[in-house]
Amino acid sequence: MRITCIGGVRTVTGTCFLCRHGRISFLVDCGMFQGGRDAEKRNRARFPFDPAGISAVLLTHAHIDHSGLLPRLVKEGFRGKIYATAATVDLCGIMLPDSGHIQQMEAEWQTRKNQRLGQRPVEPLYTVEDAQRTEPFFEPVRYEEPFQPFEGLTCCFRDAGHILGSAFLEIAFQSGQGEKRILFSGDLGHPGQFIVRDPSPPGRADFVFIESTYGNRCHRPMDETLEELAQILQEAARTGGKVIIPAFAVERTQELLHALHKLQAEGRAPALPTWVDSPLAISATDIFRKHPECFDEETLALLATGENPLETASLRFARTAEESQALNEMEGPLIVISASGMCDAGRIKHHLKHNLWKPGNHVVIIGYQAKGTLGRELVDGAQKVRIFREDVSVKAKIHTLGGFSAHADQPGLLDWIGRIPNGPSRLFVVHGEEPISMEFASKLKERFASAVEVPSPLEEIRLAEPAYPERAAPLPERDRALQESARQLLNRLQALSDRIAEKDWESDPVQRHHVEKQLRKLRRYAEKLERAVSGGASG
Ligand code: ZN
Repeated sequence: MRITCIGGVRTVTGTCFLCRHGRISFLVDCGMFQGGRDAEKRNRARFPFDPAGISAVLLTHAHIDHSGLLPRLVKEGFRGKIYATAATVDLCGIMLPDSGHIQQMEAEWQTRKNQRLGQRPVEPLYTVEDAQRTEPFFEPVRYEEPFQPFEGLTCCFRDAGHILGSAFLEIAFQSGQGEKRILFSGDLGHPGQFIVRDPSPPGRADFVFIESTYGNRCHRPMDETLEELAQILQEAARTGGKVIIPAFAVERTQELLHALHKLQAEGRAPALPTWVDSPLAISATDIFRKHPECFDEETLALLATGENPLETASLRFARTAEESQALNEMEGPLIVISASGMCDAGRIKHHLKHNLWKPGNHVVIIGYQAKGTLGRELVDGAQKVRIFREDVSVKAKIHTLGGFSAHADQPGLLDWIGRIPNGPSRLFVVHGEEPISMEFASKLKERFASAVEVPSPLEEIRLAEPAYPERAAPLPERDRALQESARQLLNRLQALSDRIAEKDWESDPVQRHHVEKQLRKLRRYAEKLERAVSGGASG
């Protein structure tokens, strides 16, 4: 089994692993890069594989940084199955079209800007229709039920306790040294999170790809976080301030509603008028109601008493743009929950623009803010931020509440790995900002006997030889040099592909098609060459 880390290594977004086993190629996740200009470029760069040659995608959960490039994959020729849990399939059914909508809006905005400068229009990365065309490829599978996407590979999703439908993935395959098992953690939840169950314990595994978003942190206990939130709400009630909460439409918004429900029920916080201003969050809340099989015992018990944990005393939903705009005129105290969670897109940007500069207001950050996002600037204490090409000074109070995190913290991650029977032989630290992944890797080395690595983007990892000899003997020095040359050739083709993608082809789209076709051919030859000099299986 050979695994190439396409994205989501030494960074927290763009998660995608290309796995090759004999003649079969499949992906684990196909995520979008988020945050900053570089992200846009990486999302548009040519895939370092042929989408038509991918037999399946195994999707751990619906978050866009794990699923967001699926529409592009389908658009460029993928025709296999996308395996995911039923709740993930339902969530992707709303999240991918929503992402397509955002891509279209951004392309339109950029096009208008370009036209004023006499430049060419911008094509969206993908559209709502492209996203809808992805739907027929989904294949729902159940938690804990092993399935075989192809012969020789047995997979199983288990609950990752991160968001509704989230899973970690176990893959068993035959190698020359008997059956081997790989574990992809996906995003692992934080035990004690509202609504979803705690992460299931992992089974036996030889190789583990472990996320490290919060690999250097300890979250505050949930009850302290709730107390902090209660105090913010009390202060807003006293002073008439607005409480703006950027929240991922999926999971964070529903957990927040659950938390508000709990604080109000226990008399710890005033029942302020609460607006959920995110059409996606509204649809997601409906999907949550459809999937009680994913709920933890506390949530099921509440439901059994007839209470709805996703409702608060004065909850309203802003569906239309007009309703959303009307919130700007309303007097506080009130709570506005809006997406995106990292403040880099969507309606939250309008609320921040209208409310950040007023001293009596509050912004409550409850989720992870990636580098380069507006949310991250606020967390880092920016005095002034730029929103819709305008400078806005930050006078509202910015609060960061750790306890709501949907990611396990360092003790949580260490505990989970410690439960793998016999311990894995190799651990790969992924899905974290580089310094954090490095720090977590040294922690793992102290704690476990396994070999620990932090892979680089596009690095190929060889895990175990297949049952048939993929490589007869260790490569002699001369052959290794040859193999290295072949890899360099592939890297140069990738660089060429990036430059072709950036070139202005406006006047000659036919030529572009021709050049891209030639490049695809070259890449196929180069890949064959690389396999041949590495002594790999042909095909
Ligand atoms: Zn996630």
